[in-house]
Amino acid sequence: MTDRIQTLLNMNGVCACGKIHPVSLQTLVMERGALAKIPEAIRGLGNYTRLVMICDDNTYAAAGQTVEGLCAPLWRREGKNFQTVCLHTPAHGLRATETVVSEVMASMEACDLLLAVGSGTIHDITRYIATELGLDFVSVPTAASVDGFLSSIAAMTWHGVKRSFPAKPPVALISDSDVLAAAPYALTASGVGDLLGKYTALFDWRVSHMVTGEYICEQVISLEEAALREVLACQDAVAARDPKAVETVMYGLVLSGLAMQMVGNSRPASGSEHHVSHLIEMDVITRDNPALHGEKVGVAAALVAEKYHQILSLSPAALDVHAYTSLPVDRIQTVFGDRTDEVLAAENTPDPLCEADATKLMNLWPEIKVLADRTLPTGEELRGLLCTMGAKATLSEIDLSDDLWNTLWEVSPYVRRRLTFMRLCKLIGQ
Ligand SMILES: [Zn+2]
Ligand SMILES: [Zn+2]
Repeated sequence: MTDRIQTLLNMNGVCACGKIHPVSLQTLVMERGALAKIPEAIRGLGNYTRLVMICDDNTYAAAGQTVEGLCAPLWRREGKNFQTVCLHTPAHGLRATETVVSEVMASMEACDLLLAVGSGTIHDITRYIATELGLDFVSVPTAASVDGFLSSIAAMTWHGVKRSFPAKPPVALISDSDVLAAAPYALTASGVGDLLGKYTALFDWRVSHMVTGEYICEQVISLEEAALREVLACQDAVAARDPKAVETVMYGLVLSGLAMQMVGNSRPASGSEHHVSHLIEMDVITRDNPALHGEKVGVAAALVAEKYHQILSLSPAALDVHAYTSLPVDRIQTVFGDRTDEVLAAENTPDPLCEADATKLMNLWPEIKVLADRTLPTGEELRGLLCTMGAKATLSEIDLSDDLWNTLWEVSPYVRRRLTFMRLCKLIGQ
């Protein structure tokens, strides 16, 4: 299964899209019992002599303790350093804040390699510190929950505000399928939701390419499609928590992470379904929603797909087609309140809709409809897949009212400066 990835890691030269796709990952181990291969994998990366492993209480128990048991005696025997920094997990969950970063950095001895053992949050903390200190880091995920393990963005909560910092991706990823299968199942189900969101994300990318000529790469798209294919092929085994099937979910998430690395941003993996999830996380239309990232993405993907098919089934004569008009600043102000300036400046200047032409969109309408019929499952089909794999499938299952959907549909496009079909629908009165 990892052959496809090894081919990618060895890939060099110019892609058919005209670009060279840089991939920073040097080593990938994904199998049952992979933790045992960590010492050998680290040696293969270079002569690192001082290692710091960052984990929390939960992930120390899940994998950190084993890693420490394997690495610490070996390193110390050779006069090298191995240090564990284990963060306390608060009742409301660990967050990647400036306080936690300071706490880790204050307790770290001098080192030349970091090891992130844990969830997305542990990875964000580690990649932020690795970037600050100019160090390499190795990823050891403890759950197949998100596609961000290979990310080059650290998602932090800085002085109470969510911020994204450019950061280093890992040089190696070592994923033990037995560890992933033993994680709480809600985390795997969340990974499934994050993956199913690729259907709407890819549709958005393709439509934007058709309407505005935005850059696109079919090789990158084929990675995301392969990720979806692999996971769908073993959906019943995923639901049964079979370690090989959970490994497949992780494989899909890794392919998606590599797709993002190859284009240098999240375009292949994140479209309108992620914009809905981000809006929920912004705490402006709802507060402190406890759902996991992939739970929100999966629910949103089904709703977005349903709405896309519904709109595309309308006859062009029924649409209120009009040329681009300026942003509805008053409406944005009503929803985002004191965050309006930040949303307008960071995500809507320039407004990505400016690049789109309503007439061209309508000329392409039949083609877009064919694309949806060919590549985008219906809302019902996506909810069916989410249910089969034990993932949350509706707004009410993530503690949100169904009534919220109209606002999510209307406002989500403004949370990211990225053209989606959802945003294009502003040109046709939908
Ligand atoms: Zn390409
Ligand atoms: Zn995601």
